[in-house]
Amino acid sequence: MHLDRIAIVGAGMAGLAAALSFSRLGMACDIFEEASDLVEVGAGLQMSPNASAILREFGVLEELEKVWTEPREINLVSGKSLKNLANVPAGDFARKRWNAPYGVLHRATLQSALLSAVERNPLCTIRLGTPIRGTLPHSVREITGTAYPLVIGADGVWSNARASVMDAPQPDFSRNIAWRFTIPLDEAPVWLARDCVTAFMGPSTHLVAYPLKETGAFNIVAIASGISPGATWEAQANESQRSMLINQFAGWHPEIITLLGRSERPTFWPLHEVTPGRWHNGRDVVLIGDAAHAMMPFSAQGAAMAIEDGFVLANEVKKATSLPAALASFESLRVSRAAKVKARGSFNRFAYHARGPFRIGRDIVLSLRPPQSLAADLDWLYGYRVN
Ligand SMILES: Cc1cc2nc3c(=O)[nH]c(=O)nc-3n(C[C@H](O)[C@H](O)[C@H](O)COP(=O)(O)OP(=O)(O)OC[C@H]3O[C@@H](n4cnc5c(N)ncnc54)[C@H](O)[C@@H]3O)c2cc1C
Repeated sequence: MHLDRIAIVGAGMAGLAAALSFSRLGMACDIFEEASDLVEVGAGLQMSPNASAILREFGVLEELEKVWTEPREINLVSGKSLKNLANVPAGDFARKRWNAPYGVLHRATLQSALLSAVERNPLCTIRLGTPIRGTLPHSVREITGTAYPLVIGADGVWSNARASVMDAPQPDFSRNIAWRFTIPLDEAPVWLARDCVTAFMGPSTHLVAYPLKETGAFNIVAIASGISPGATWEAQANESQRSMLINQFAGWHPEIITLLGRSERPTFWPLHEVTPGRWHNGRDVVLIGDAAHAMMPFSAQGAAMAIEDGFVLANEVKKATSLPAALASFESLRVSRAAKVKARGSFNRFAYHARGPFRIGRDIVLSLRPPQSLAADLDWLYGYRVN
């Protein structure tokens, strides 16, 4: 079916990807974004081939490839001994195996490439500084006077759009904090691989580091338990929070403790998931991205899932004969995909944070797995294509 004009609440990865997906099928979109400026919130993102294949469809991949970093491998390293345990090949291998590249980049680089594509597109409009509160679809109709047949709630983990969907998911603090800091490339220790993503795994905590060409620095994220500062994306850690971070890495290799000590004012993001729930109201409102299925970053897939959502939703609307049918098939396709990705994240969490005998067992099992076999485990995730 064809919809003349769709409303999208939120201009994060999910909202911008949805706008580009609907407009490529000839359907116009009005985006409403609360922020008056899309500032540099967040840090690095890993874009796996399942998402980069969609970015190619949007016509933004080529410009991103010029600025992003394409890691040669994803390395899994013991945080206690710095011993390399396993590698998943990326680089040219990813391009051949999954027919699309694996890149790492700053979130702002991706968001501004998507935003420019939206702004260039005659079928899309974007209104910044326009928070949407109240019941949908009435609240967006009041702004433009348009009776939208479909409103997409792409307004993130603390979504307001959820209030218009009965039994919608609710945010749930995971009791984990992602601490983030950067180290200039020329000051980084030699054991940080310059051309790889490295996940250091240790008891109850893990740390991921990768170089970002655009910023000339290593993006470093440490994940450990902690308390939430409330509904915020990122906050500056004070001195006592910083010591708390370092304490959580007690028993790790001294080089890593030294690295953490160099993080002057790390930012911290409380990690929220959402509870299971309905993603649409059966008529005219649907949730996508973190609003529907915020997940832990253990598989580095939250933004990738948000991008896939927009693409699948547009396709399902185009194929269906009615909106209720399109929303039902979207939900059923995406609930199972998101559940599988979350389950993989939970497995990674167990493996990354393993303690005692589990850690020793993990190290042995991983060191016996050849890179090709670790890559084959990811075919369902990275090789996924939307029909
Ligand atoms: C530490 C960490 C590392 C991560 N690493 C990766 C990674 O490597 N790869 C990956 O794929 N994902 C990663 N993610 C996940 C990813 O960042 C998120 O899943 C993704 O950004 C969600 O996109 P979204 O568009 O759904 O939500 P958001 O990015 O939160 O966007 C929501 C937008 O809606 C706007 N908004 C909110 N309320 C309103 C309102 N009432 N009216 C209008 N606008 C509103 C907001 O201002 C915002 O612009 C990571 C997450 C964390 C925390």
